Amino acid sequence: MLKVIHHGPVTEIKVSRTFMGRPVYFNSFFIVDGLLIDTGPPHVSAEVGRALEEFTIDRAIITHQHEDHYGNCRLIQDKFSLPVYAHPLTLEVMAAPPPLQQYRKFIWGEAPPAQGLPIGDRIETPCYSFQVLHTPGHTPDHISLFEPEQRWLFCGDLFLGEKLNAFMEGEDIAAHLYSLEKVIQLKPRLLFCGLKGKIEQATERLKNKQNYWLNLGKQIKEMHRAGASPGQILKRSLGGEVPFYYLSQFNWGRRHLVDSFLKNLELF
Ligand SMILES: [Zn+2]
Repeated sequence: MLKVIHHGPVTEIKVSRTFMGRPVYFNSFFIVDGLLIDTGPPHVSAEVGRALEEFTIDRAIITHQHEDHYGNCRLIQDKFSLPVYAHPLTLEVMAAPPPLQQYRKFIWGEAPPAQGLPIGDRIETPCYSFQVLHTPGHTPDHISLFEPEQRWLFCGDLFLGEKLNAFMEGEDIAAHLYSLEKVIQLKPRLLFCGLKGKIEQATERLKNKQNYWLNLGKQIKEMHRAGASPGQILKRSLGGEVPFYYLSQFNWGRRHLVDSFLKNLELF
């Protein structure tokens, strides 16, 4: 399933695979002034290929190493001969995609290997000038694009929501907080999020997210000081684990968040 949503000069392409006729999980990528920012997951490649025929695009940027973002790089290279730019760590994953857990194969699909070029610190298009920001946390290679005149922040999976209380394995709260502070300082007006599309009052929403995690970190620190185990902290601070932790073969859950907070208690 694919929807094209226009936000003035920015176009959002919102996609989901369908299963038994119903969408499974939507995520979004964007086109602005000839720039394609992310490419959608492999399961929707046929629809993405058809949709992109309607646009003039001269290059693609990939925000990070997840298959729902770089999954159609090979398609856009084969079909449209577009160059792809990304962080060097993203390029390594794209060139040799690792095996995926079953849930990721089901929701997004396995991406074919693809080649790209290392991104610089600025992207110029005919009408805009984007700063390339390294914004790790969700993954170590994550980048965001900021347009200072428009105060747009294309933020991949940096935001996702204000009260995110579960992590994928490997997410790092110290890097997340570093990246949040970095983008808050820029005072963005609009976020273009890989999960939620266009988000207004961007700086306020990012601060809400920062405050939620700082308060949660304080609670976890107090519980730890009082002698609670990681399992007790998980139960008392977040109400216990989510069933998806087991469905995801232990790849995504609250436990990963609590573990990352416990490794970084000095931040709270
Ligand atoms: Zn991601």
